[in-house]
Amino acid sequence: MSIRERLPDRVTVVEVAPRDGLQAEERIVTADAKVAFIERLVDAGHRVIEATSFVSPKAVPQLADAEEVVARIPRRPGLRYVAFAPNERGLDRALAAGLTDVAFFSSATETYSVKNVGRTRAEVLEALRGLVSRAKGSGLRVRAYLAMAIADPWEGPTPLETALASGQRLLDLGIDELAIGDTLGSGTPRQIQELIAALLDRGVTGDKIAVHFHDTYGQALANALAAMELGVTTIDASAGGIGGSPFAKAAAGNLATEDLLWMLQGLGIETGVDVAKVADAASWMCGLLGREPPGRATRALAGHQTP
Ligand code: MG
Repeated sequence: MSIRERLPDRVTVVEVAPRDGLQAEERIVTADAKVAFIERLVDAGHRVIEATSFVSPKAVPQLADAEEVVARIPRRPGLRYVAFAPNERGLDRALAAGLTDVAFFSSATETYSVKNVGRTRAEVLEALRGLVSRAKGSGLRVRAYLAMAIADPWEGPTPLETALASGQRLLDLGIDELAIGDTLGSGTPRQIQELIAALLDRGVTGDKIAVHFHDTYGQALANALAAMELGVTTIDASAGGIGGSPFAKAAAGNLATEDLLWMLQGLGIETGVDVAKVADAASWMCGLLGREPPGRATRALAGHQTP
């Protein structure tokens, strides 16, 4: 069977640049720029965008204007915005903002859980029990991140059974989507497939699984391909490849949306997203951030436009 025959016909790209991307950038951009960025991503065809985080402005000053941004972004049927909410207060704010989706954090490893949110995995799970129930009861679609699902910088490789059990516990809370995070970015396709296959073996359906890869070791695109081969059709990516993890110092940027779109386009997999428009938006944003876009396709496409 050819590679194309083993892959899905359509993939949903979850655009995480406005939240996961911008929160990790040193330079803070204005609310105007964030709104314009999201407008451009919508215009490029994105239909699921992680728009902001309702986190404390002290913890993440980059997104201190969350309310203003979400009040001004275009809303229309079929366009979903995900808000990241770290706690009850964050969920209150997400509900008040009237977004469609909420995302919660958890870690497969204890060290990262404590370092990132100051709570053990058990404490996070206990808090999520209430948060997920409230979010679902309020009509929100719920995704939960499972960070460090493959390895973490302090503990080394995450045992498959540990990641699997953590993922299963989140799914048992009634979430709509488990976003498997290779936060460190060290995972390779075999590890990705082993974890996804183990979830599928336990009866989890492919539509409940999303993947969130970091490109630290240059494996993100290969890992996305590996995930698709097992039926995963929801892939996180960040325009230009901006951002990453602000806490795991070793972790480099997110998988660049343009790199992913370039591969998907070449494979004839539908996304509805225009790679050139995303590259334009990302190049513009990277100009404001005062940096080169880390995404390879982003830079290649920008280069083609230079006379
Ligand atoms: Mg990320």
